[in-house]
Amino acid sequence: MSGSKYSKNTIVGRIHPLGINELRSVRAIPPLSVFEDIDALYISHFHLDHLGLLGALPPGTKVYVPTISMLKVIEEWYRASPTWMAELPHKLHTEVIELKPYREDELGVIPIPVSHSAYPADSFIYRGHNSIVFYSGDLRVDGLLGPRINTLENIEKVVGSEGIDIGLLEGTNIGEVETPVGSDEFRIMVNKVLMSNKLVIVSIDPVDFEMFTTVTELASLSSRTIVIASPRLVDVLPQWHNSMLSTDTEKLAVASEIEKPALIPVNYVSLKQDVLKDPDNFLLIQEPIGFLEMLRRMKTWGEKLQTEAISILTMPEPLESEAEIEEKVLTYWLNILGVHIYRIRISGHYYPHELRNLLEVVKPRKLIPIHTKHPSLVLRLAKQVK
Ligand SMILES: [Zn+2]
Repeated sequence: MSGSKYSKNTIVGRIHPLGINELRSVRAIPPLSVFEDIDALYISHFHLDHLGLLGALPPGTKVYVPTISMLKVIEEWYRASPTWMAELPHKLHTEVIELKPYREDELGVIPIPVSHSAYPADSFIYRGHNSIVFYSGDLRVDGLLGPRINTLENIEKVVGSEGIDIGLLEGTNIGEVETPVGSDEFRIMVNKVLMSNKLVIVSIDPVDFEMFTTVTELASLSSRTIVIASPRLVDVLPQWHNSMLSTDTEKLAVASEIEKPALIPVNYVSLKQDVLKDPDNFLLIQEPIGFLEMLRRMKTWGEKLQTEAISILTMPEPLESEAEIEEKVLTYWLNILGVHIYRIRISGHYYPHELRNLLEVVKPRKLIPIHTKHPSLVLRLAKQVK
């Protein structure tokens, strides 16, 4: 379910959809008829353009998700929304089932863990009666955690040497004129910023555990304690901790000012008493939506912030998620507050030059590009690399 085309043309500023019926009538979400003969719905990861509006599903629909505990956390963020986003949580009449990596389920679907800017993320293989289908979901070849989530190796394990009949392959980065940075470039940049600045704040999307782990490791290398300054990042702490991606949580703390108890053992530090007094011992992490309020509040505590703060805004890709904050307003405010910004877009998707590697592993006899503005370009590139 994707509302990107609809959002771009019809939701601007304060104009919001009126609800499910209107979203259906303008074809931003699928008509009810598509659910008539389905056996189940598979969600590859929890970016909003893939999760969709579970509350809009007809009664009795079976939904497979990568993890139920993370879904519950995300649903709580939107349940009380005054807008159509309140339709995101599933209704009681929907059966939600957790996917098991590499295990074929009763419908012939095998989830394959892949690297992406949402964790966990799966590709799927469907072994049907007549054909074998591969659905990529969103994926990158070279993730922030390197071999810890090896997309190509994981896919190869399941596909084997025979290849598949139909490949539904995302092509987000293909045909785009702005090239996002990769994992190596990101690590180098953040390291340099950490070495030459005092107060550093990094924005992290709460579903991006690979980023969470990467930033934690970079902070630890420069002997800084990570301070979580956003309630949603505190909400996902137990899931992140159980994900096996998390490293040591000893150098992890929660800002006491946000008054949000963590469900795993962590330290609490005060932004006012500890972080602002000794900024080069800490690295603040915040989600984009809470950034501005936090900084404005900090500004009222002391003038020091004006000359010494650096913000690293990690931007999601355009197709990725609902923009919850007006970026222009945010950067304007940050400038007023004397904060210098590094605006970095890290790719959650494979690069055009990696299409070859992906096709060599998936070996599709027929290719259908999805999740791209340039499907014909994906097909032309694919032909060239065969
Ligand atoms: Zn995604």
